[in-house]
Amino acid sequence: MSTDLNCPTCNSDATQRLSVIFEHGISDINTSSNTSGIGLGRGGLGLGLAKTKTRGTAQTAMSLKASPPPKKRLLKPLGYIFLVYFVLSLFLGHNQVLAGLAGTLWIAGSVAWIVFAVNYNSKTWPPLKAIWDDSFLCNRCNHMFQVGKKT
Ligand SMILES: [Zn+2]
Repeated sequence: MSTDLNCPTCNSDATQRLSVIFEHGISDINTSSNTSGIGLGRGGLGLGLAKTKTRGTAQTAMSLKASPPPKKRLLKPLGYIFLVYFVLSLFLGHNQVLAGLAGTLWIAGSVAWIVFAVNYNSKTWPPLKAIWDDSFLCNRCNHMFQVGKKT
């Protein structure tokens, strides 16, 4: 069993599951934000200040690399689509035909996005998430590999 977790490239056993790296990176942020300004021992003052500035939004580089595949978001893109429509209608407001066309495009674009996002999240995303669940990162050569996949 343990040999399965060895890196296929360099055969190192210093491998970590992506989900573990990811969660570890998140908790690092929480720690640094709680102790910012005091616990600057190892990182030095400069790093401590930088951490304080970006806390809450930043993750460790390792954690970012190990992030799970993102689901398609619904509301934010719909907001952008509406924004485009809103700007268009400002310019086209005086022309009823073009304004009507922009409105139609807005509705069509929104519906198309909802269909795409729902479809992606229910069909495309689960296998990606499953792959991520079984993926490991080698701490020695940085190789990312999937466990249980026979090559
Ligand atoms: Zn390796």
